[in-house]
Amino acid sequence: MAQVKYKYNPESLSYDKIERSAKGVAKRMLFFVTASLTLGVVYIIILSLFFVTPKEKKLLNDLDHITVNYKMLDQRMDQMLKVVNDMQQRDDNIYRTVFELEPIPQSIRQAGFGGINRYESLEGFVNSPLMIRTNKFIDKLTKQVYVQSKSYDELIDRVKNQEQMLAARPAIQPIDNRDLKKTASGYGMRIHPIHKDLRFHNGMDFAAPVGTDIYVTGDGVVTQTGYSGGLGNRIIVNHGFGYKTVYGHLSGFAVREGDAVKRGQVIGYVGNTGDSTGPHLHYEVHKNDQIVNPINYYYEDLSPEEFALIVDMASKGAIYD
Ligand SMILES: [Zn+2]
Repeated sequence: MAQVKYKYNPESLSYDKIERSAKGVAKRMLFFVTASLTLGVVYIIILSLFFVTPKEKKLLNDLDHITVNYKMLDQRMDQMLKVVNDMQQRDDNIYRTVFELEPIPQSIRQAGFGGINRYESLEGFVNSPLMIRTNKFIDKLTKQVYVQSKSYDELIDRVKNQEQMLAARPAIQPIDNRDLKKTASGYGMRIHPIHKDLRFHNGMDFAAPVGTDIYVTGDGVVTQTGYSGGLGNRIIVNHGFGYKTVYGHLSGFAVREGDAVKRGQVIGYVGNTGDSTGPHLHYEVHKNDQIVNPINYYYEDLSPEEFALIVDMASKGAIYD
């Protein structure tokens, strides 16, 4: 109800009614409406700062749930990574070792994805660090599992060719040495008989008369026959599977380059050619282009006792180079 206002008139000694103009009323109303609106907006801002709507509340709950879920996924992937790492260990140290495959280098196993930033689209969100971490994890796992499955493929191939590999491996002594008396000198540091200095003897010497048969120690292909400086007349046989054998100081050849040979086949004859101080065969075994100790490759013709004996003889025996 509108209030009626009066003003005291000292002349007439009475109260006169104050008349309002329409403009004045409008002005007052405008002021009132503006003030109310401003107050309302301020209230809403304050409310929204301290209180959430049910919709916002649900979204926040969802976000919490997603965050917790991502964290759990991370933990599970950590576990999976451990399982995969365990598979890799067993692969390198057992399966690949048994089948004579080189371990897979860590640089290949752990290789990541290079180049552009794969995770750019995940940047700029509340949970970006978590999402990027999880995605990186998945990428890493995918890659490692892929490398691992490739390794198993290789193993399967190897198992299929195992018979061939066993036939190819150097596995006997290169000359008839049943009494082991021909064992001259083994693999290791020795005083060189000609140069008289300490050198690494990278093969095994067998002393035997000129003309004694030399047997190839595993199936393979003759890749070289000919004269080669220090080793004199020399034969190199490639057995595949990373194996090569070398026969030096020969007096003659029984095979030619390109010949396929079977373990135990005569390939040449003991001699005294090249840097040699007496008739003998110098024999080397190479595995993956590394010269290895041939003594570990006589398992087809040596018993454990004979093996111990030949190790002892080879460490003391005369060197002919
Ligand atoms: Zn030698």
